[in-house]
Amino acid sequence: MDCPRCTDEMNLLEGEDISLQRCAECSGIFIDPGDLNRLLLRNGLLVLDRMGGRANIEEIAVACPECSVDLTVIEGNDKSGLRYETCESCGGIWLDLPEADADDLDSIEAAIVEHFREFKG
Ligand SMILES: [Zn+2]
Ligand SMILES: [Zn+2]
Repeated sequence: MDCPRCTDEMNLLEGEDISLQRCAECSGIFIDPGDLNRLLLRNGLLVLDRMGGRANIEEIAVACPECSVDLTVIEGNDKSGLRYETCESCGGIWLDLPEADADDLDSIEAAIVEHFREFKG
């Protein structure tokens, strides 16, 4: 799977029951909603659908690496200023996580959990 932003091949990182794709160039992450929800629930958070946030269709999003359609930007509470992007077609989630340690799945998972903890406010 190629990064929709850099067109570099993304790295597939696989854990026991969670896998995701990461771009080494821009630190973008692509994850399936099922895997993301597993991760959120395990860390005491709500599933993504219950997380709130609102679509901002004015914002430019990347294209889905899976389906090539434009993703939709979902913004969290005003205080966090955080966002994620989601695919209306496959449900995949795109996140920018420059703070995560490259290629270390534990570190990336921790950064995702932190992102959504602040996202919901
Ligand atoms: Zn990239
Ligand atoms: Zn898609």
